[in-house]
Amino acid sequence: MSTAYNIAQVRSAFPLLRRTVHGKPLAYLDSAASAPMPTSVIEAMDRYAKHHHSNVHRGVHLLSQEATDAYEGARTIVRRFVNARSTREVIFTRGTTEAINLVAQSWARSSLSSGDEVLITHMEHHANIVPWQLACQATGARLVAAPLLPNGELDMERFRALISPRTRLIAVTQVSNALGTILPLSEIGLLAREHGIPWLVDGAQAIAHGIVDVQAIGCDFYAFSGHKLYGPTGIGVLIGREALLESMPPWQGGGDMIRSVRIEHSEWNELPWKFEAGTPPIAAAIGLGAAMEHVESLGREAIAAHEIALAQHAEKALLEIDGLRIIGTAAHKAPVISFTLDGVHPHDIGTVVDLEGVAIRTGHHCAMPVMEFYGLPATARASLACFSNEDDVQRLVAALRRVCEVFR
Ligand code: PMP
Repeated sequence: MSTAYNIAQVRSAFPLLRRTVHGKPLAYLDSAASAPMPTSVIEAMDRYAKHHHSNVHRGVHLLSQEATDAYEGARTIVRRFVNARSTREVIFTRGTTEAINLVAQSWARSSLSSGDEVLITHMEHHANIVPWQLACQATGARLVAAPLLPNGELDMERFRALISPRTRLIAVTQVSNALGTILPLSEIGLLAREHGIPWLVDGAQAIAHGIVDVQAIGCDFYAFSGHKLYGPTGIGVLIGREALLESMPPWQGGGDMIRSVRIEHSEWNELPWKFEAGTPPIAAAIGLGAAMEHVESLGREAIAAHEIALAQHAEKALLEIDGLRIIGTAAHKAPVISFTLDGVHPHDIGTVVDLEGVAIRTGHHCAMPVMEFYGLPATARASLACFSNEDDVQRLVAALRRVCEVFR
């Protein structure tokens, strides 16, 4: 583990970690669902609320200009953080779900027709399945899902074979939230380019782990949420290739997304505002910018190295528990560990470990096709973040031993 990475200092930035749960110190192992915010994020939003709150883009008064500068400043930080080509390609949304729905409503509905296909994988989050189902229902296109291998990797041979002249879009996750699998995006990107098919990446689980460079990935759309990256809820981003975004119709109408409105006809604003109808989540965007700066100050490579080493240690420690099975054993994994315990329902695991002060997630993780693939109703999932430490892992192991005492 990196010695330069001062875990005590990293933890001290997160006030949530200082609270107790059922009288015990909190061991927070649920950042894949939503990560806590550091003080710098909370303070950035607090400063905005106390000193600058106003609406953006509309007023000439000083506060409105300050709010606009802060909101557009956050967009500039996002551009840098993911290495987008320009801020015209950075669209603020409510989250990953809304970002994918934007593409499904705007691009897919205007581009798909009967007989076309959208290719996804069996390990997608519902947010990268249902919007395509809706678009397919509206256009007569078909949704095709590439299968998994038993270890939770994508079956690339089958994926390749499912690409056909009818494939109009490929939409894949970068990291599976239910299994931790990291998908081979370079290979998928090569296939997409070779066949001239636009492709979208769901980056919800990848954005907080290591460096995301959308130009290096080469995808046409990249979606993520602020709250998985130590930012607030209610903010996310769609990065889109400018030429594609230019060709797409707006998906929501209202203020800010227009240049001019007459009763008979309206003209659209330029990118990125064409896709940002109405007053945007200004405070949340500012919070996201602060979260990205916080992550940059810790060092994204340093965070990733810390998390990977701790996840390997955690998997080893968990496997010493009798009857514990890790679901998803891909060669390349993010720090997400899904598991089952023989003879114990995952919800019972979650309830007992909660009483020990350990927060993990149990359920289908909004990835029901993954559960179906493994023939499981649910799994328990521990996910690590920049502040996770060995104590968290020990607390989880001890809590699971307690589960075994209670239920076996
Ligand atoms: N995709 C993946 C892989 C996710 O893990 C999540 C969140 N669990 C989402 C999409 C949806 O993100 P949000 O709810 O923030 O829109």
